[in-house]
Amino acid sequence: MTKEQRDYLAQGLHQLGLNPDERALERLDRYLEALLAQNQVMNLTAITDPWEVIRLHFFDSAALLPTRAFPHKRVLDVGTGAGFPGLVLKILEPTISLTLLDSTKKRLDWLQRLCEEALEMPQGVEAFCHGRGEVLAREEEQREGYDVVVSRAVASMPVLAELCLPFVKVGGLFLAMKSNKTDQEIDAARDLIAKLGGQAPYVMDYKLPDTDIFHRLVTVHKQAPTPERYPRSWAKMKEGAAAPGR
Ligand code: SAM
Repeated sequence: MTKEQRDYLAQGLHQLGLNPDERALERLDRYLEALLAQNQVMNLTAITDPWEVIRLHFFDSAALLPTRAFPHKRVLDVGTGAGFPGLVLKILEPTISLTLLDSTKKRLDWLQRLCEEALEMPQGVEAFCHGRGEVLAREEEQREGYDVVVSRAVASMPVLAELCLPFVKVGGLFLAMKSNKTDQEIDAARDLIAKLGGQAPYVMDYKLPDTDIFHRLVTVHKQAPTPERYPRSWAKMKEGAAAPGR
């Protein structure tokens, strides 16, 4: 990352109300360099311009932090891919106890090496959890084991709610990162969210710093345990679900 890019990163984070220290900026710098280098040999992200990585991955992920949902919480990122949003959240809010979950093992292995070597955070991430969310959510130590579950660009809202809410403790939160053109899929998920133990979703659009792009955060408070029958198989979840808006 050039000095201009690092200053730009710090300014954008300030616009989001965040005040990153030098260590956090250094880690984001190393993360960006490692991501772009590894992307030459492994499919990690379609975004290859460093300024766009800062805007569309770092600012977008960091935009969750002003919710104040995270300090000292047990957090799960479902379908983390190259670590978004989970790893950015952890770098900027180190008190999080973070688990990164993905069905693709080679991405998780890369994330683990990144945390231990380049980012020098050997204790930074509690677990790298390989497997399908709908299978892992049935394991005793995972089910209703997290204060906050986040997910970005994994499935349409009905599928995502069924995939994520079983992991959330009663009293905890599910935060879905969506595009702002998702009214229909959010409406399509309302009945199912209630059956899964969630309150009515709260929808908030936010603007990415230095862009005209609006993204959407869908917040669901969990108020009751998820019935044993959920999550169903991936095929069952997808039946009738609309195409995802991220
Ligand atoms: N969240 C990242 C982001 O926003 O850049 C990655 C998004 S990528 C489009 C979707 C990721 O979800 C992939 O890494 C994929 O392996 C993972 N994934 C899809 N379905 C999953 C499932 N049922 N359980 C666990 N991971 C899943």
